[in-house]
Amino acid sequence: MINISKPIIDYQTIKEVIKVLKSGIIVQGSKTAELEKNLAKLNRKKYAVVFNSGTAALHTALSSMGIKEKDEVITTPFSFIASANSILMCGAIPVFVDIQEESFNIDPSKIEEKISNKTKAILAVDLYGQPCDYDRIVKITKKYNLKIISDSCQSLGATYNSQPIGQHTDITCFSLYATKNIIMGEGGALVTNDKKIYDYAKRFRQHGQDMEIPYVYHHLGYNYRATDIASAIGLNQLKKLKLFTKKRQQNAKRLSTGLKNIKGLILPEILDKRTHVFHQYTVRVTPEFPISRDELKKYLFSKGINSGIYYPTLIPSNQHIITPRKYHRGDFPVAEKIAQEVLSIPVHPGLSPKNISNIIQAIKEVSQ
Ligand SMILES: *Cc1c(COP(=O)(O)O)cnc(C)c1O
Repeated sequence: MINISKPIIDYQTIKEVIKVLKSGIIVQGSKTAELEKNLAKLNRKKYAVVFNSGTAALHTALSSMGIKEKDEVITTPFSFIASANSILMCGAIPVFVDIQEESFNIDPSKIEEKISNKTKAILAVDLYGQPCDYDRIVKITKKYNLKIISDSCQSLGATYNSQPIGQHTDITCFSLYATKNIIMGEGGALVTNDKKIYDYAKRFRQHGQDMEIPYVYHHLGYNYRATDIASAIGLNQLKKLKLFTKKRQQNAKRLSTGLKNIKGLILPEILDKRTHVFHQYTVRVTPEFPISRDELKKYLFSKGINSGIYYPTLIPSNQHIITPRKYHRGDFPVAEKIAQEVLSIPVHPGLSPKNISNIIQAIKEVSQ
């Protein structure tokens, strides 16, 4: 079976994990500190804080900005549920803006009409590994004096205007979950240049506790600590990030060459000013394609190829999502159409050239 993702763990990593297990300091020790230093450096930010998930990083980021009940945060309807859930965790209200067809990311031209006097921030999601249109989003945040946070959980290592994506935001959040481009198993991080946010985030990770004086609590916090076991894995993975990314990009190029000019199949585009780290290689199976998206998925499975639908439904269609306006079909015409068409096919660095040609072959077989 060719899987949609596959962690690559080398012997060095296993050795380092054993070392941590034997060291006596298993949670939030030197490995976590070192991972933070390296993540800050990679993103050219002053500070990084590592957590036990990307969701924890997002919740902390929003909370550190004072986002609270009745505040509104603008975000995309087309993402993993954690993007909007992190807003709800602060008691705030997600306000959804439709996406751009070419990038699958939030459409900057539709943001301003959703800004109200309750809007506090924009949570931009760099979906599938491709950064949002930050020049235009940052212009809007400046005009309305809003904060900008990015959910870059799928996009560690991507660049915009030749700079790491973290350069364009107040806070950028990453996930190092087991299927992401690099992994801790469970894990996440935020990066920022703001010392106040950094201090808040470190407290928030540990019940709001003062960093020097134990059992003194400044505000509500959670247990979002990472283990040094996971951080040791993350550190070794980080050394491979460049190599893994290059392989993903090479695989994407091979897929795009092999799959071009197939009627009804729209291939992913890399937009201007950015690099795409291909967390997912997502095609659109349109009505002109001979079989439906779901039939193609089944067919590929029968050929030993696993694919994924990220995401089959829009976030606002979920019952628990509280938003100023109840979701109605037709509210997000682009995202609604895209959710019916997307299919992510394997692009991970563990694929062989033979795997790639099998995928291309299988899709070509049904495309005629
Ligand atoms: C993975 C992911 C998250 C959440 O990360 P976890 O580490 O699973 O908590 C949030 N947003 C997006 C877009 C993701 O892909």
